Amino acid sequence: MSPTPATDRAADPTAARSSARVLEAINRKRRGASLTDEEIEGVVTDYVAGRIPSYQMSAWLATVACRTMATSELTALTRAYIRDGRRLDLTGIGAPVVDKHSTGGVGDTTTLIVVPVVAACGVPVAKMTGRALGFAGGTLDKLSSIPGLRLHLDTDELVPMIRKVGMVITGQSADLTPGDGATYALRDVTGTVESIPLIAASIISKKIAVRADGLVLDIKTGAGALIPDRPDAVLLTQTMMALAASFGLPSRAVLSDMSQPLGPAVGNALEIRQALDVLGGQRSPGLWDLCAAISRLMLQSVDPGLSDTAADAMVERVVDDGSAREMFVRWAVAQGADATVLADPARLPTARRRHLVTATESGVVLGIEPRAVGRATLLVGAGRLTHDAALDYGAGVVLHHRVGDRVGRGDVLAELHYDSGDADGARALLAEAFVVGDGDCAVPPAVHQIF
Ligand code: URA
Repeated sequence: MSPTPATDRAADPTAARSSARVLEAINRKRRGASLTDEEIEGVVTDYVAGRIPSYQMSAWLATVACRTMATSELTALTRAYIRDGRRLDLTGIGAPVVDKHSTGGVGDTTTLIVVPVVAACGVPVAKMTGRALGFAGGTLDKLSSIPGLRLHLDTDELVPMIRKVGMVITGQSADLTPGDGATYALRDVTGTVESIPLIAASIISKKIAVRADGLVLDIKTGAGALIPDRPDAVLLTQTMMALAASFGLPSRAVLSDMSQPLGPAVGNALEIRQALDVLGGQRSPGLWDLCAAISRLMLQSVDPGLSDTAADAMVERVVDDGSAREMFVRWAVAQGADATVLADPARLPTARRRHLVTATESGVVLGIEPRAVGRATLLVGAGRLTHDAALDYGAGVVLHHRVGDRVGRGDVLAELHYDSGDADGARALLAEAFVVGDGDCAVPPAVHQIF
């Protein structure tokens, strides 16, 4: 969306009125007032329509990020994001449909695992997903490494796909939440992503626009999380659950650990292989623990009487009998993926070069800084350093150890997979990411809290 040029705006009385209104809203918010529904709706719809310039919208977002929002303001913002967008109601599909959302992180392959697991348990899953944000990987980019897979389905194709296969994963469609689409792009470049009300309205608006029967939120905490601080991550969780409930959408949530990368693979095709391995029964510690907890909550969100033991048994069974992996393959092929690649994941994009990062001393792995690992993958092209950069789908990192492991001098800590880019910079970041020593080490659990 290109905002109206300044010269045209001065001559346009509607745009001038909109600019005056947003300025008034910025000033009122800065002084600590609560904005009215009309003010919030006016700011968002005027911005989407190009009647206010991006510098004024940036100032409004920054003021909201600093001053935060009351519940009534948050509800109005969520409604404004959805306004004039398409709505998709999945509640009439014939069986309760469940959705999940993770605030993302490094090595977070959960969507690629829990969606087929829950679908294989007989509960339809609809998941709209996005591209990578900064150092954290994006499910859409990971899936784009599978040749042929169509990831931009028309909204009309979603219900038939769920009916045919039992699950759907597709790119976020901009026509569902025009307000969020326009403001999110601006937040990304104005330092206003990390705001509890702005995150909550952005995520929940998308969940209301594509309406499932139940929602499970996976909110990360720790150095690699969008909101690292634990009390703030708890507040974000509670804010999102209350907001979803105010629109009649029941939700459950896990507060999960992102103080170290979640799984050993970090990078697009590497994470697809990892997901297929986990679905095939290789239960990677940490990653699997979280996937099992999310899957359990997803099953319970559409069947509240299901006990933890029964839900866990269903989840374990579909992994053990191969039906979860089969579900992934059936879904991907139904959306155009090359079946021969999925039958032989070694044919997924693979980087030609390797570099091993080894321990310079013996001891216990006391920490693995997730942002440094994420940034290392960006330097070799697994993520984007600029908005439109092409990705190297084979590039990334495989971690050989987790926090709490004992290592000897010379042991391999991590493997860098690369073809090009700044491999020296990536190696240095990986070497710095690992803290090995003799101190006491509290191994963080994958799941801190369940709501
Ligand atoms: N993901 C979103 O969709 N919105 C945010 O604000 C942050 C993460």
